[in-house]
Amino acid sequence: MNAPARALGFRLHLVVGTTLSVVCVLLPVSLLRDALYTALSFGCVAVMAVGVHRNRPRRARAWWFFTAGVATWATADLMWALFVWVLHVDPFPSPADALYLATYVLMAAGCWEFVRARRAGRDREGLIDSAIFTVGFVLLSWIFLVRPALQQAGDSVLERALAGAYPLGDVLLLALLVRLLTTGGARTTAYRFLVAGTALMLLADCGYQLVSLRTDYEGGLLTLPWLCGYVAFAAAAVHPSMRRLTDPEADPAFSFTRRRLLALTAASLLPPGTLILQLALGARLEAWAVATSSVVLFLLVVVRMSGLLGHLQQQSNRLAEVARTDALTGLPNRRTSDAELERLQVRARTEGLPLCVAVLDLDRFKAFNDTYGHRAGDVLLVRSAAAWSEALRASGAFAPPLRGGLLARWGGEEFVLLLLGHDLPAAGRAVDALRGRTAAGQSFSAGVAQWDGLEGAADLFARADAVLYTAKQGGRDRVVLAGPAGEPAPVGG
Ligand code: GH3
Ligand code: MG
Ligand code: MG
Repeated sequence: MNAPARALGFRLHLVVGTTLSVVCVLLPVSLLRDALYTALSFGCVAVMAVGVHRNRPRRARAWWFFTAGVATWATADLMWALFVWVLHVDPFPSPADALYLATYVLMAAGCWEFVRARRAGRDREGLIDSAIFTVGFVLLSWIFLVRPALQQAGDSVLERALAGAYPLGDVLLLALLVRLLTTGGARTTAYRFLVAGTALMLLADCGYQLVSLRTDYEGGLLTLPWLCGYVAFAAAAVHPSMRRLTDPEADPAFSFTRRRLLALTAASLLPPGTLILQLALGARLEAWAVATSSVVLFLLVVVRMSGLLGHLQQQSNRLAEVARTDALTGLPNRRTSDAELERLQVRARTEGLPLCVAVLDLDRFKAFNDTYGHRAGDVLLVRSAAAWSEALRASGAFAPPLRGGLLARWGGEEFVLLLLGHDLPAAGRAVDALRGRTAAGQSFSAGVAQWDGLEGAADLFARADAVLYTAKQGGRDRVVLAGPAGEPAPVGG
């Protein structure tokens, strides 16, 4: 089938399915209504199976789980209709119960398969968030469905187990639906219909259980979400975008949206809210359920918060590292060397150690770039930085306790070397020893100045820079020491 024909088929399915669902709900309780209901549900199962078969999704298992779940539900409904219209009995428990319960498990398995396929990483946060929502559902389900059902159930173990099993099935499926919603991945049309189908089914099922606690359910408005759920499942399977439903999320970016925060807040407020409501209405207090769920929720929120804090800490550490480092060479950058100079000045003063600053500038680097290309120039910077660092480490130039310092990239092809515990001649020798280490047989010129214990950082650098200029003018490939009075005194070369 070509694309326009498919699109038309999809729309036709929605229009016909929804219309017939509404008609079915409006019909009075009759064999005709149940016949239409059965025809509609099995029609949707057939459409779904054809859709999954034709679209050939990569991980078809998830889709077949859902199809099987919808089929068992429809079969259970059919079985029930046969009891009523043919056998004129109203058995409980019956084989239909087994089929109904199988549906929860099959659909939950389908949801789980989708989650597994769509999730890119481990996603602990999504798991905890789903757990938080689930605890909220469990509380509501316990108060409104399980307890009343247990009170009404007969004494047989099977009856009591079944009374609890249906709400439990809803909680299981809802938990996995929320897990699917908290997982990333493309939110295609098929995805929306699949989620809508599951949500409608859960809505109808919980509604049915609530109604059944009071009267014998004979059909009514609740049939509409049920039938629309069938239509939605089939629509999801028919839509071409269903093939992308199992694609893993593209960018598992860290996200904690305002919407999720609101939803989590609402879930966390469920237990106290329930208590307040029960107190206000003079209803029976569910103190144990409220207290237990509050404790579990609180612990989950704490785990979630600690995860967020850990994440923030990691991120800020990474940012701080990035802010300190030169991206090309991996050396500390100018900001770091400025801050380090301040620290070293304090140490020099308090520990009475000499402190020198050297400014290194590669010789004729522009010509190197022009001859070998910018990439080769970058490599020269990286290799030289690595070689100088290694030489400084090996010579113990920064070795504590009496020595310290830093080699940093100041910018461009200029580097700065801070040397604590070196007087001017020692610093000159240390810098001079680096000249032969420059990568690719290149050279640098340097100016070195010793801090006089009073001048500011800018003045100290200006003195080093001035003798660097002298070194360049003197023919490059040399180290010039700044005299205390600003008189240049060349060494090396
Ligand atoms: P001198 O011996 O007088 O220092 O000559 P020079 O060519 O080294 O000096 P100049 O300041 O004229 O040129 C510096 C060059 O450094 C210019 C620029 O293209 C190059 N440069 C600056 N940063 C980078 C970089 O990150 N990568 C590369 N490949 N080149 C850079
Ligand atoms: Mg330069
Ligand atoms: Mg240069």
